[in-house]
Amino acid sequence: MSYVGRFAPTPSGALHFGSLVAAVASYLDARANNGSWLVRIEDLDPPRTAPGSIDAILCCLDRFGLHWDGPLMFQSQRQGAYLDALAELTKQGRIYACSCSRAQFQANPLYNCTCLTNPPAEKEVALRITLPSINVTINDTIIGSQTQHLADTVGDFVVQRKDQLFSYQLAVVVDDAEQKISHVIRGSDLYHQTPAQTWLQRCLSYNQPTYGHLPIITNDQGQKLSKQNLAAALDLSKAPALLSEVLERLGQTTPCALRQAPVEEQLAWAITQWDITKVPKRMQDPNAFV
Ligand code: GLU
Repeated sequence: MSYVGRFAPTPSGALHFGSLVAAVASYLDARANNGSWLVRIEDLDPPRTAPGSIDAILCCLDRFGLHWDGPLMFQSQRQGAYLDALAELTKQGRIYACSCSRAQFQANPLYNCTCLTNPPAEKEVALRITLPSINVTINDTIIGSQTQHLADTVGDFVVQRKDQLFSYQLAVVVDDAEQKISHVIRGSDLYHQTPAQTWLQRCLSYNQPTYGHLPIITNDQGQKLSKQNLAAALDLSKAPALLSEVLERLGQTTPCALRQAPVEEQLAWAITQWDITKVPKRMQDPNAFV
C-alpha cells in the first residue's frame, strides 16, 4: 500500500505552534516514507470558519516549505458523500433520532438517553449511532496501543447535528477514506476519538489508516495551545527559528549550523533524519491524557 498522509486543519483561526507541530510531523513522516501529503480544510461548520483563516493557513504552510500534493479538499463541499455514508449506516439499522440537549451529553457522554427506545416527537433531532459492546484496540505508532470499550466509554455519538451539520467523527472518516489516507499523524487531543473512528471505518467497509498521535504542546500555564485559549498566531518572519523549535519538540534536534537555515534546508535535512520513534510519547499536560 502506498503512503498517503494528510494535514486537516479546522479554519477557526490562524495556525498556532501546536498545529504547526502536527503539520510538520505529518509532512516529514509522509516524505520520509516517499509518500504523498495532502491538505484538507475541515470547514465543516461554516459559522466557525474565521474570515481569512483558510488563506492564512495555506500561506503559513507555504512559508514553512510545507508544500502539499494534489488539490485541496474542503469539507464544506462534501455534503453528498456524508449523506451517502449516513444512508449506509441507516440501512444497517445503526442510526436513531435523539432530541436530548447537547448539554445533557456534555455533562456525561454516557448519559442515559432513552430516545432509541422512545423515538422523540420533535422535528429538530440529532442523529446518533448505536455503539456495540465491544473493545477496540488501536496500535498507535507514537503512543502505543490503547483499548477502549465503545459502549462504556464513548457512548452513542452524533453523526448529524440538530442543525443538519455533519459531525467531525463522520466527516473525518468519510474524507480519510476518499483521500485514501494510509497514515494519520495528528495531535493527541484526538487520541481518544480514534477507536470510534475505526468503528465507523469498519461499518462503512473502509480501510483503516495507521495512527500516530503527537504530544500535546502546552502553554506556560499547562493549557493546550488552541485558538480558544488564544495561542499566538505564528510570526512568519521567524519561520526558520520556529521550525527548528518544532523539530526539537519532535525529538529531531537540528545541528546548530542548521538552526537559522532556510526552512527548505531544514526540512530536507529532517526528511533524511526523520525517526518517529524519537517523538516523545509523554503528554506535557498530564491531565490531558487520563
Ligand atoms: N480538524 C482537526 C483540527 O484542526 C484535526 C482533525 C484530524 O486530524 O483528524 O484539530
